[in-house]
Order: sequence, then C-alpha cells, then structure tokens
Amino acid sequence: TSAQIGVTGLAVMGRNLARNFARNGYTVAVHNRTVSRTKSLVEEFGHEGDFVAAETAEEFVAALERPRRLVVMVKAGRPTDAVIEEFAPLLEPGDMIIDGGNAHFADTRRRERELRERGIHFVGTGISGGEEGALHGPSIMPGGSKESYESLGPMLEKISAKAADGAPCVTHVGPDGAGHFVKMVHNGIEYADMQLIGEAYQLLRDVAGYTPAQIADIFRTWNTGRLDSYLIEITAEVLSHVDEASGKPFVDVVVDQAEQKGTGRWTVQIALDLGVPVSGIAEAVFARSLSGHAALRDASRGLSGPKPSALGESEAAAFADRVEQALYASKIVSYTQGFHEIAAGSEEYDWDIDLGAVSAIWRGGCIIRAAFLDRIRAAYDAQPGLPSLLSDETFAREIAEAQDDWREVLVAATRQGVPTPGFAAALAYYDALRAPRLPAALTQGQRDFFGAHTYRRVDRDGSFHTLWGGDRSEVSE
Ligand code: NDP
Repeated sequence: TSAQIGVTGLAVMGRNLARNFARNGYTVAVHNRTVSRTKSLVEEFGHEGDFVAAETAEEFVAALERPRRLVVMVKAGRPTDAVIEEFAPLLEPGDMIIDGGNAHFADTRRRERELRERGIHFVGTGISGGEEGALHGPSIMPGGSKESYESLGPMLEKISAKAADGAPCVTHVGPDGAGHFVKMVHNGIEYADMQLIGEAYQLLRDVAGYTPAQIADIFRTWNTGRLDSYLIEITAEVLSHVDEASGKPFVDVVVDQAEQKGTGRWTVQIALDLGVPVSGIAEAVFARSLSGHAALRDASRGLSGPKPSALGESEAAAFADRVEQALYASKIVSYTQGFHEIAAGSEEYDWDIDLGAVSAIWRGGCIIRAAFLDRIRAAYDAQPGLPSLLSDETFAREIAEAQDDWREVLVAATRQGVPTPGFAAALAYYDALRAPRLPAALTQGQRDFFGAHTYRRVDRDGSFHTLWGGDRSEVSE
C-alpha cells in the first residue's frame, strides 16, 4: 500500500494527528525515532484506519505516494533540523516536508530556503488546539509555496476544525515562515487573553469579594454573551474545581508561578524588532515572569499597600458587570495589537497575509477560539485595508460604550492595590492612540537637547535643531 501522508514524531501531537488523518480515510505512514512508539500507536489505534508502520527512515519514505507528504511532529529546534537532515536526502524534487512543530518563523524561513534549493517544498505549519485539537480537529496555519498548498490543502481542510458555519479552520497563510509567524502571534494573543481573564478573576475576588465558585458562575454567564470563548469556558471549569485532598478551591492549592514555553516571548521580541506596540501581550509575558520570581516576591511582601475593603453585595454585582466591560474592551485592544503585528510581519517579509482569513481560521480548533473572531473577520471583510481593528465602527462603538466602566475598574484596582497590568496597558494604548497630542514632542525636544538628534515642526517641512548650548536659535538641518 502507498500512504497519502506520513507522520514522523509520534509523541502526543504526532500520534493524534496521524490518527486524525487515518480517521478521515487517509492511509498514514507512521514513524518515530524510538520504534516502540510506532508499535504502540498501531497496536492501540490500528483499528481506527489504515496505518503503515515504518521502522526506518527508508521504509517510511518508500511507503509514501509521490509527491511525498511528510509531516514532522518532533521537538522544535535542533531535533527538527536533525530530522530534516535525515529525510531530505531520501526525497525527490516536488516532495513536501511539513513541519507542524512550534518552530520559530526565522528557522522556518531558513529551512524553506535550504530545501527549496534542493527542490523540496518546506511547509512550516502552525497547529493549535493541543492534544485534543490534533485528534478532533485543530486550527492549522500552513506557510510555504502555493503548489504545496494545492496538494496538501484538501487533506488539511478535512482534518481541521470546522467553524460554526462549517468552514474549515485552515488557509494558506503565505510563503515560507508566514504560517509559523501567525501561530506565534496566536500564542501571544493567547497569553494576553489569559492575563486579562486572570485580572478579571483577581478583581472579582479581591474587590468584589466573590468566592472562586461564584466567580466560576459569573464566567459561565459571560460565556453566553460576547465573551463566548474556549478560554472563558475552561476558566469556569478550573475555578469551580475543588481539590479533593484539601477540600479547598483548586485555584488556591496551585503555586501561583506561571510558566511559559517561549512563543509569547517571541511575539514580543519580534514586535520590538518590527516596531509594533504590543503592550498588552508584553504585559502578559512580564506578568508570568514576575510571578515566577519567588525570592523577589518573598522579599517584597512587607511593602505597604492600601487597606482592602470589599464591596457590599449589590455593589459587587454592579462591579462584576463593569469588569466584563473592562475585559471586553481590553480584549479588543490586545487583538488590535496582535493583528497589527501580523500586518507588519506580512509587510516586512512580503507575505501578503489576509487578516480576515486568519481570524476566520481561529474561529475553531485553537486555544483562542471565540465568537469574537467572527466579528474580527466581518470587520476585515467589510474593509480589507482596515488600518487597525479600532478603526472598525463596531469595535470603536463598543469600546466607547465600555470606557466609563473600564476606567472605573482601573480606579478601583488602583485604589485597592490589585495589579492589573493588562487592563491598564490596554487602556493606555487606547488613550494614546486617540490623544490629540502626545508627550513625544517633549521627548524629541530632549533628544535634540542632549544629542542634537533634530526634530520636525508642525508648521513647516524639514528637520530642525535648536542651538541649546548657544543662543537657542533654530537651524534647519
Ligand atoms: P515533544 O515536543 O515532546 O517531542 C517529542 C517527539 O520528538 C518524540 O516523537 C521524539 O522522539 C521526537 N524527537 C525529539 N528529538 C528528536 C531527534 N533528535 N530526532 C528524532 N526525533 C526526535 O512532542 P509533542 O507531541 O508535545 O509536540 C510535537 C511538536 O508539536 C513540538 O514542536 C511542539 O512544540 C508542537 N506543538 C505541541 C502542542 C502541544 O499541545 N503539546 C501544541 C502545538 C504544537 P522519541 O520518541 O524517539 O524520543
């Protein structure tokens, strides 16, 4: 038998992806460095479809129909290069290597270039949805050549998640690293979403005085409205969970130090390189890093803060409504920033990414899936050249309606000493964008003073410098 697709790397992701292909009627060649994984996959799940187990790289490649489609699901970084080096010499021009790992897009660009010279299509592909998504339908973000998408697209469409309207959550994102870039920003937005939800939770607990179980109910209610999303849904699950051993709310027995694997950090690093302000995503990454500084936090516990005072019952309910407004408005801002980064990456690398199509494929399967993404898609469909999500009439109106509550929530947070870096950064971004004048004019003056860096004037073209150390007259540069 010849297999239409092959998967090498059969840990949780690869094994589930292989099963997904098989369950959809494809013959799947499977391979793993450690042969026992291949064997156990076929033993446990062989009945789900047609698998061809390959022990060696040669067997694996020989099992594939041509042009070959070879999915690599191994640890990102060096292992991916090692696997490519193992397989590339066995392939022929026109064959495809699909890297479904969490690769850095710069690595993907390099690998694509090197393999293109050898006639092999390299398809760097973002895959989101975790283990369950890989099995039941992930959101898939493939980059690479148009030809490779023509060959692969129909298969990916079949195994991908479907949005509520039935559309497959996969699109050809763009050439070389475009798919992994978009996956990276997806993860950055995911960090921001999680941070904002965390701040909402902390406010409901510390300012409104609700218990985790009550807060779970509030999130359940929010999940029936415009915040309807996977992350809000699982937040309610986590908050209502009670630890069996101690009888305490689960959230109170978990060490409050958040970990990270790096894609959020990459999103911020690349945003800095591209000059895109992603302050909300950056605050989310910093909040995780701050939480992990145990010694620093221990040393700071004695620092003084305001006296806490919880709200009364009726005030608490009204406050919860305000927090919903603040969360929603902040979410609009973090997506605005994330899409700005994708637009900037697309511009820098000539990817021609369709932002509406990206929001459409995030509607299902991935971690940030949400009703909200349908509205982002609608915004880009209505105006493909939209300079920013905040320029969309609907989002602008919603923020306008939310802003009083948003500001009140931040006042309460500040007064009570509850850290809300995500909400605050989002509001600062919004206020900075709409400000008629920014203190950047003063910054320019300072730069000109100490470094003769020059400035532009509001009333005349050209660059100018003031002779600060002399008679303070202005010279044209
Ligand atoms: P891991 O990232 O834990 O990687 C384990 C797999 O990589 C095993 O099959 C292992 O083979 C193989 N491997 C490691 N080093 C080498 C090497 N030098 N040569 C050959 N094979 C090697 O597995 P996951 O399934 O968690 O993830 C796979 C990829 O998918 C990663 O890039 C990950 O970032 C990405 N991803 C993961 C998600 C998740 O939710 N887990 C979600 C989305 C993407 P062996 O069995 O022989 O050790």
